[in-house]
Amino acid sequence: MDLKSTGKTKEEIKEMYNKYFYETFQRFDFIAEKGEDDYVIDETGKRYLDFMAGIAVNSAGHCNKKVVEAIMEQCQQMMHASNYCYTIPMVMLAQRICDAIGMEKIYFQNSGAEANEVMIKLARKYGKDNFGPNRYHIVTAKNSFHGRTLATLAATGQPGTAIQRNYDPMIPGFSYAEFNNVQAFADACTDDTIAIMVEPVQGEGGVIPATKEFLQGLRKLCDERNMLLLFDEVQTGWGRTGSLMAYMGYGVKPDCVSMAKAMGGGMPIGAMCTSAKLALTFGPGAHGSTYAGNPVACAASYAQIGEIIDQKLPENADKIGAYFREELLKLPCVKEVRGRGLMIGVEFNKDIATDVKYQSADEGLLITAVRPNVIRLVPPLNITEKECDEAFAILHKVVSKLV
Ligand SMILES: *Cc1c(COP(=O)(O)O)cnc(C)c1O
Repeated sequence: MDLKSTGKTKEEIKEMYNKYFYETFQRFDFIAEKGEDDYVIDETGKRYLDFMAGIAVNSAGHCNKKVVEAIMEQCQQMMHASNYCYTIPMVMLAQRICDAIGMEKIYFQNSGAEANEVMIKLARKYGKDNFGPNRYHIVTAKNSFHGRTLATLAATGQPGTAIQRNYDPMIPGFSYAEFNNVQAFADACTDDTIAIMVEPVQGEGGVIPATKEFLQGLRKLCDERNMLLLFDEVQTGWGRTGSLMAYMGYGVKPDCVSMAKAMGGGMPIGAMCTSAKLALTFGPGAHGSTYAGNPVACAASYAQIGEIIDQKLPENADKIGAYFREELLKLPCVKEVRGRGLMIGVEFNKDIATDVKYQSADEGLLITAVRPNVIRLVPPLNITEKECDEAFAILHKVVSKLV
C-alpha cells in the first residue's frame, strides 16, 4: 500500500492516524513508503540515508533481495501451521543459529520483549527445579532496557520513569545494580538470586558498552554462586557490535542469550538460546506461543542470518564503525562518542538530541535520540565509508546550526 493507492493526501492520512491511534510514539513528518538498501523513501520520493535502520533491525539493508525472496517463496507454500506440526524453516533456522553462535537449544518468540520474557521464565524454573521455591530473583543493571511486557518492564532498571510509572505493582523478584560495577552486582545478589541479566552494550540507556572486565567478573560471580548469566542481545546481536553476537567479541559466554531485532530482517521474530546446562529445563507444557517459529518469519530469518554471515557484515561493522566513531569526534559540541561496531552513541554537551534528530531527518538522514543529549546511530551493517561521510556532513551542518 502507498499513499497514491489510497487516493488520500498525507494530511488526511495523518488525521486518520490521530483519530484512531493511541499515540505512544512521536513520528517523523513523512510517510515511509519504500525501503531500498540503506535508504528510506517517502511519499514524495525524497530519500533518507537510514542510520536508524528501523531501530537496529534492517542490518542487511532494507528489502534485502534474499530475504524478500525467502518470504515470497514461503508465503506461497505455508504461512502458518501452529506448533502442533513440524515445519522446515524453524528447524533449518534453529540449526543455523545454534551452530553459528555455539549454543545447544533455541526457543523462538515473536519479539525482543517476549524473548526476554521466556529467558526470565527459564531462569526461574531452573532456580526452582535445582535450588527450591525461593530461588527466583534476578539482578539486572540500572538504566537497562529489557522490554515493555510486565516482566521485562520489571527487569528494566528504570524505576519511577515514564516507562514504568502507572503500571505498579511491578512483578516481584528483580533488583538493580550499577552497570560496569562487578562489586555492586555481587552486593545485590542474595541466596535467592538465580541469575544476573545484562545487555552487553546498553542501548536505550544511552549506548553504554560493558567493559570486558565487567562481563568477565559477572561470569566468575555467577559460576561461584551457582547463578545463571543471561545476556539480552536483542539489540547487540547478529553483527551489530562487530561480532556475530556481542558475547563472542567479548569472549564471555552466557548461559542464555536473547535476540530479536536484526535476526528477522524486518519480520517480527525473536529467540532465546541456551547452553547445555539449561537443555533440560523446559519440557512439554512449560511454555508456548501460537506464532512462535512461524514459517514465514523463520524463512526470513534464515535468509537474513545467511546474508549477515556470507557478506561478512560483523567484520564490516567492526571496520566501518571504528572509522565512523573517529569521524564523529569531529562534530561540534561533542562530549563523548561511544559504542562498539555500528552501535554508536554520540553525547553532546547540550540537550540537543531531539532537535538533531528532527533536523537531520529534514536534511535526509534518519537517526534516533536515546537521551536528551545522546543520539544513537545504528545503520545497516553494509554501509560504506562514503555513506558515513554523507551522514557526518549532515550531522555537522545540523549541529553547527544548533550550538
Ligand atoms: C528493543 C529491545 C528490547 C525489546 O524488544 P521488542 O522487540 O521491542 O519487544 C529488549 N531489549 C533490548 C536490549 C532492546 O534493545
